[in-house]
Amino acid sequence: CGIVGYIGKRDAAPLLLEGLQRLEYRGYDSAGVAISGKSGGLKTVKAKGRVRDLDSRLPKRFAGTTGIAHTRWATHGAPNDVNAHPHLDADGQVAVVHNGIIDNASEVRAKLEADGVEFASETDSEVLAHLIGRSQADKLEEKVRDALRHIEGTYGIAVLHAAFPDRIVVARNGSPVVLGIGEKEMFVASDVAALVSHTRQVVTLGDGEMATIKADDYRTYTTREGSRTAASPETVEVE
Ligand code: GLU
Repeated sequence: CGIVGYIGKRDAAPLLLEGLQRLEYRGYDSAGVAISGKSGGLKTVKAKGRVRDLDSRLPKRFAGTTGIAHTRWATHGAPNDVNAHPHLDADGQVAVVHNGIIDNASEVRAKLEADGVEFASETDSEVLAHLIGRSQADKLEEKVRDALRHIEGTYGIAVLHAAFPDRIVVARNGSPVVLGIGEKEMFVASDVAALVSHTRQVVTLGDGEMATIKADDYRTYTTREGSRTAASPETVEVE
């Protein structure tokens, strides 16, 4: 339903939760956040219910300057803590938030399970985390492109990987993704409402497009070939 991401110098969790709150008007049944901490590794907190329920569950020490967050409107799997996003791969290295519906999730899941992968949730979205985690490609962008080749359906996704702490990778096919270009910080969201309090400089991804955001840089490219696309920010007007 709603996606927010942040990479920069500030503490990510409060910014992410503020962004989620700005998306509350869309409705949702659960929420979650993943942060990549200074010590390496990902920390995730998820909760059925409101963003404030999520907030009340965050540990006192939940520091990290990169993170992704989600409000879920369940399509596959009951609304509960475990089915809330982000979803992790088996090693806890990859965190994914997903809007949309993976049409062939049950086939992909069956294949992965036959290969010994254990799923934590009942969602269609979790296959993405495992596919990315199992990709043999070197770069995170290639891992995500690899994973997306295996799936059919609609998605707006944001991906964190513990081994690539300097970036967030996002992709769009049928579910909106916008980048917010800040000063030595970048935002990503499913809706400009989540980021206009921080920046008015916005890049809207097209279907079949991906982006890598780093604190001081971003680039967009096609999901299929990985070839660069033009992306100059537009200034959004807010009434
Ligand atoms: N299909 C996914 C799920 O049920 C994502 C739903 C959404 O867009 O929030 O978890």
